[in-house]
Amino acid sequence: MPKPYRDLAGYLKEKTGCKTAKICIDGGFTCPNRDGRCSTGGCAFCGARGAGEFTIDPAVSIGEQVRVRLANPLGGRRAARFLAYFQNFSATYAPADELRRRYDAALCDERIVGLAVATRPDCIDEEIAALLGEYAARMPVWVELGLQTASEKTAGQMNIACPRAAFAHAVSLLRARGVDSVAHMMVGLPGEGLAEAMDTLRLINAQPVAGIKIHSLYVMRGTALEALWRQGEYTPLTFDMYTETVARLIAGLRPDIVVHRLTGDCPRDTLLAPGWSAEKNKVLDRIHTILRERGWHQGCLYEKDCLI
Ligand code: SF4
Repeated sequence: MPKPYRDLAGYLKEKTGCKTAKICIDGGFTCPNRDGRCSTGGCAFCGARGAGEFTIDPAVSIGEQVRVRLANPLGGRRAARFLAYFQNFSATYAPADELRRRYDAALCDERIVGLAVATRPDCIDEEIAALLGEYAARMPVWVELGLQTASEKTAGQMNIACPRAAFAHAVSLLRARGVDSVAHMMVGLPGEGLAEAMDTLRLINAQPVAGIKIHSLYVMRGTALEALWRQGEYTPLTFDMYTETVARLIAGLRPDIVVHRLTGDCPRDTLLAPGWSAEKNKVLDRIHTILRERGWHQGCLYEKDCLI
């Protein structure tokens, strides 16, 4: 049954003409929110692997990581083409010539037909946007920008240490070079409910982004969020609250934006709460059921949300 939103699998098939999947790579980057340039603690929800828990250890060379994943591409077994996806930490946080070396190392097989890079908005500048634009001139390229929330207050509580205005600036630099941006937002941040999630969606809708990733906030072992949760200062959303919120976000999402993700994906051995977030298919099924029962599809409430 077709999904009531523009999903990533369909978009990639449109772009490449065949089933295409991502190969997740740890490029050995760090993050300015960990090395002291912005802060040392990292975002409160960030785990030891910097938001890429399923990648191979970066001690393994990038080329070897690609070869291993091509032989066993996890979720993309039936794919004929792949995108190299630099997932861990801030994968534009290095000098441009070093970035080029690492990205080129991943483009080492003819089945790799595109590049995806996850980073912070404040790790995009003119020079890096120009570099990414060179790749975008010859293959599909997108940059995932960790916005998470429109609220400076929540960003402060979570030690995100990046001004909200940096998001629009990064999108504009990338767009000027022909590079697609994908906005990453979190649902279930402390003190945030549907109204705050809609504020974040409006900020995203107002920018020329090509994609969105909606992520459930979960408590991972060893994070600062774990301490808040154990002290009773953070309560995760319930399954019903999360799925209701995401269905409403899809209804309000600008119709052209591609949906890359609708929930989180935490390894079971490090997940502390909420338990439902380990059941990705159940979460997706419920979101699809809500959309179907209400007759909602992507963007059906977009015009209305623009007027609020
Ligand atoms: S910006 Fe990303 S990598 Fe850096 S601390 Fe936050 S979640 Fe982790």
